[in-house]
Amino acid sequence: MSTIKRILVTGGAGFLGGHLCERLVEQGHDVICLDNFFTSQKTNVAHLLSRPNFELVRHDIIRPIILEVDEIYNLACPAAPGHYQYNPIKTMKTSVMGAINVLGMAKRCRAKVLQASTSEVYGDPDVHPQPESYRGNVNPIGPRACYDEGKRAAETLFMDYYRMHKVRIRIVRIFNTYGPGMHPFDGRVVSNFVRQALAGEDITIFGEGEQTRAFCYRDDLIEGIIRMMNGPDEFIGPVNLGNPGEFTIKQLAELVIELTGARSKLVYRPLPADDPTQRRPDITLAREKLRWEPTVPLRDGLKKTIDWFRSIDMRQFRAPTPNY
Ligand code: NAD
Ligand code: UDP
Repeated sequence: MSTIKRILVTGGAGFLGGHLCERLVEQGHDVICLDNFFTSQKTNVAHLLSRPNFELVRHDIIRPIILEVDEIYNLACPAAPGHYQYNPIKTMKTSVMGAINVLGMAKRCRAKVLQASTSEVYGDPDVHPQPESYRGNVNPIGPRACYDEGKRAAETLFMDYYRMHKVRIRIVRIFNTYGPGMHPFDGRVVSNFVRQALAGEDITIFGEGEQTRAFCYRDDLIEGIIRMMNGPDEFIGPVNLGNPGEFTIKQLAELVIELTGARSKLVYRPLPADDPTQRRPDITLAREKLRWEPTVPLRDGLKKTIDWFRSIDMRQFRAPTPNY
């Protein structure tokens, strides 16, 4: 039997999706990248367009689409706070209607389907580090709710399709991931700090900078996602994927300054509403079930990210369009 699979990656032109498509194309699979280019652009995957086993489809996942596939990675959703809060109603539609559409496709095709969920399902956690069993502390009416609650509803839909229709599902909860290919204007902390440092601008710390995050390098994360998809059907998750190394935002700023050699000053700005105070994955389950753990320390990953930011022409990137 052929080991080559027909694989759909929704959000495949984005930061994580683009790298996932690259990996799957290299493995010889027949890859369909579906994207509406809200937070990405065709140029992100232009290097794959000449490959016979890669196909690009411009489509919005809130609408159904008929495709014949063996596996679906559902990554379509803006991930940066500035992007997902731009049109919060659309963000919720993308998570919920997108989940219904990929689950319907998986049911019809008997395909496996993986949901890219998020540590945001834990909200501002009062259990630390966060195991998968923790049910979270999410504000359902705040500015982050469109994303957090959208992703929580998507997890619910995945579990109900699994229980009701025996769809072969996987759920991964991704913690902050960074690396080459990030949108330079997404407003996330790593892209902001690196861009600011390289331009010699002030580094904007929100709040006191004492809030923590755990940063996972892109390649480690993609490896974890692929292992989860290829694991046994008995292990559906949810499983945390992230780097347990925890840093304050101020420590991150100092590291970026050190690695870029910038003379930037730290400046303090108001903390956005509902900004989680701490975040760190408990990855015991991923270690045990997937034999997975991150291999790239923050310092090394940041160096590669900084090199990539130095190599790009920022004028080639645009912010999300006002049409969405
Ligand atoms: P990204 O914004 O770079 O990629 C998302 C992609 O989805 C983009 O190409 C965008 O154009 C596309 N998209 C958005 N709405 C769509 C729609 N309605 N129809 C079709 N395509 C649509 O973000 P990313 O960092 O690559 O994140 C990918 C996935 O991983 C997202 O689902 C995100 O929620 C999840 N995730 C990412 C992180 C992280 O730190 N990067 C953390 C947790 C979860
Ligand atoms: N942050 C910051 N300065 C910035 C951008 C973000 O201090 O220029 C903070 C933000 O308030 C949050 C953390 O960095 O506490 C991570 O923010 P990001 O938007 O990257 O992701 P989040 O984990 O909050 O979704």
